[in-house]
Order: sequence, then structure tokens, then C-alpha cells
Amino acid sequence: MEDKNRREKLKDFFLEIKDCRKCELSGTRTKLVFGSGSAFAGIMFVGEAPGKNEDLQGLPFVGRAGRILDSLLESIGMDRSQVFIANVLKCRPPGNRDPKIEEINACKDYLFHQIGIINPKIICTLGRYSTQLLLKTTEGISGLRGKVFNIEGRIILPINHPAAVLYAPSRMEILEKDFLRIKEIMDSNYKSADSDKEAPKIEANGDEEKTEEEQLGLF
Ligand code: SF4
Repeated sequence: MEDKNRREKLKDFFLEIKDCRKCELSGTRTKLVFGSGSAFAGIMFVGEAPGKNEDLQGLPFVGRAGRILDSLLESIGMDRSQVFIANVLKCRPPGNRDPKIEEINACKDYLFHQIGIINPKIICTLGRYSTQLLLKTTEGISGLRGKVFNIEGRIILPINHPAAVLYAPSRMEILEKDFLRIKEIMDSNYKSADSDKEAPKIEANGDEEKTEEEQLGLF
């Protein structure tokens, strides 16, 4: 894919899915949260699903967990303009309940298509749902966190979701270490001593609103 076309392809894809009605979450969402960041990012972060603030603004990671993600990026000399941030689900589950398997199945191809357009060298999965989806496993995040996997030439690095820090502040230290690992991999030109690990065995199949134009300006 030509680099010069990536931004346009991402914008076209946003316009294509912004009114998606493929699952029941379309009935309760305020805005579909497509994702934001650079269409040319070498690293992509994938979380679980939009929360309340994300749903209102149409942007990913804008609440307290988002501020933690910002500070972690800052700790390795980066900011959001250099990465792409998305979620497994594009619409908020009511009350921030866990995603249902049928919702993930309905939505996952959108994420895969975004990955195909952006073609990042590293995907950092934040928490259980994105880790299990991208590693095609049912293993829990605790056993996978911090390990580096190489899948089809792309590095997958599972880490805890930044929201975990809100409930267990001691996890910040672990996240900081994992972000240093990200920097290490980037500094080594995307090579990692253990990045030849196979993926686990497949066991199972702010409250201000953003306009659509502002969402389009995000890539
Ligand atoms: S969560 Fe995904 S599949 Fe469901 S309505 Fe939203 S965009 Fe469509």
C-alpha cells in the first residue's frame, strides 16, 4: 500500500463504518469511536472498548485512563501524534460492561482492516480483550503480559490496560517498565531478543463533543 494513500484510506474507512449497525451497541452509543493518531504510526495501541467520555467525544482514551496513557507515552519521549490508538469494540457497552463475544465477532474485522491500512510494526495490546483477540488465545493477560510475540512479521506486546492503575496504583510501575520495553524494541529497529516467540496455541475460534470533521482530522 502506498504510504501517501494511508490517511485517505483511513478516512474513507471511517466514513464507511461510522453509522455501523452490526451489533446491539449501535442502539446505545452516542458516537462510534474509530480511533485516532497517525496513519503512518509504527506502533498501535489497542484497548477494549470506549467508555463514557470516549462515547461522548468520539475519541479513544480521553478519560483518566487516557491521561495515564499520555503520561506513559511521555515517559518514553512520545505523544499521541506518533502512534495510533484504537479499541476492539468501536462502540461503548452500556455501563462499561464487558464486551460480549458476539459484539467482538461483529466488530473485529474493523480493527483488522485498520491494522492492514496502518501496517504498524508493533501492536501493543492493552488488557485482556485485545490480547486474546490478536493472539487468538483464551489465556489470561497475567500469563502473557510483557512477553513479545511475532505474528506474521509484526510484534505483538501484551501489557496491562492503563485503567488498571486506577484500581491498583502499584501497576503503574509495571506499565512504566513495559513502556521502556516498547522504547527498547523501537530503538533496536523493531528487533527483540524474544520476538520469535510463537503466539499461544489457538484454543477457540472531558465531555466536550467532537464533530465528524474533527474526527476526520485525526489521522
Ligand atoms: S461495536 Fe462495532 S459492530 Fe457493533 S455497532 Fe459498533 S462499530 Fe458496529
